[in-house]
Amino acid sequence: MLPRTSITATAPVDSGEDDPERQSSVSGECVSAAEEYPESAAEEYPESAAEEYPESAPEESSGSAPEARPDTTASDASTGQTDAAGDRPVRIRASGVARRYQSDTADVRALEDMSLEVTDGEFFCLLGPSGCGKSTFLRLLSGLAEPDAGEIEIHTDADSDRPATSMVFQNDGVLPWKTVIDNVAFGLKMRGVGKRERYEIAREYIEKVNLTGFEDAYPHQLSGGMKQRVGIARAFANDPQVLLLDEPFGELDAQTRRYLQGELLSLWHDSERTVVYVTHDIEEAIKLGDRIGVMGTRPGRIKTTVDVDLARPRTRENLDMARLEELKTRVWDVLSEEVQRSIERR
Ligand code: ADP
Repeated sequence: MLPRTSITATAPVDSGEDDPERQSSVSGECVSAAEEYPESAAEEYPESAAEEYPESAPEESSGSAPEARPDTTASDASTGQTDAAGDRPVRIRASGVARRYQSDTADVRALEDMSLEVTDGEFFCLLGPSGCGKSTFLRLLSGLAEPDAGEIEIHTDADSDRPATSMVFQNDGVLPWKTVIDNVAFGLKMRGVGKRERYEIAREYIEKVNLTGFEDAYPHQLSGGMKQRVGIARAFANDPQVLLLDEPFGELDAQTRRYLQGELLSLWHDSERTVVYVTHDIEEAIKLGDRIGVMGTRPGRIKTTVDVDLARPRTRENLDMARLEELKTRVWDVLSEEVQRSIERR
């Protein structure tokens, strides 16, 4: 039986901006030291991974100055239902979620009747045209904002003090005034973990994302790809039950993106964590996801979900290219209509 974090619409429509007080007050819960980085990642991504995801990330220029954003958590309730197949418990359930932004000059219906289920350990990709409400939905999942209607449930383990969610943002997730190690350990510090333990955990994840040697570096000394690795290490170090990623590699060059996708998959594989990954890149969604939720244009909702029945690891020599193309076509058939509608509306 999994307890449940439930976010139900109670508040009236707000004025558009979410409460910054709330943003700075939500933070994830602490966890015990994570397991040693197992050999299994290397097994899962053997030599072939080196081809698909190169050994070292290429250099690229630093991104813009990031803004501090906290990781998030939420409280508990209870349930223990399974998905339609009955084999894995449902970790996230959203039913009829709506969210709108209102101000003196605009009234934007970002989401309406958004419903989906994500099962435990699933890598779920949320794909949709720009402006269809993907980030808004992720913020609702994280607890940074609340729905105006509908319900969001995140089922959490009964006997765990792990945070419900941690978020990786596109480009504003690292604190510019903190070193790499203090960034990675930030969520743990917020939850009162002692310095020795949090540094131990942080070092472990710094190693996992290949940043050993950069512990004392500041974000301005890092490339954009390295900063995203800091964000990912921090999110995993928090050991959340659900990891939320909002186009984390969207601003990186293709090679770096591919490399970091491989790193992310290794970490996900080892941790068996539930992931919700926002992207507007069809191929990325297919390469990463177990399932893809294709969203319609604003007000956003799930138009269709597609099972990605490609074996893992999805390395070049392992990938069923014919099936990949079929899936791309299938997703594009749905998405292209929505993109067209969204362009016509502008
Ligand atoms: P996506 O992530 O799919 O690109 P978003 O969730 O960022 O979409 O935005 C959905 C819609 O809501 C867009 O039209 C966007 O302009 C609008 N929106 C997002 N955040 C705000 C806000 N704080 N105030 C007003 N409108 C917003």
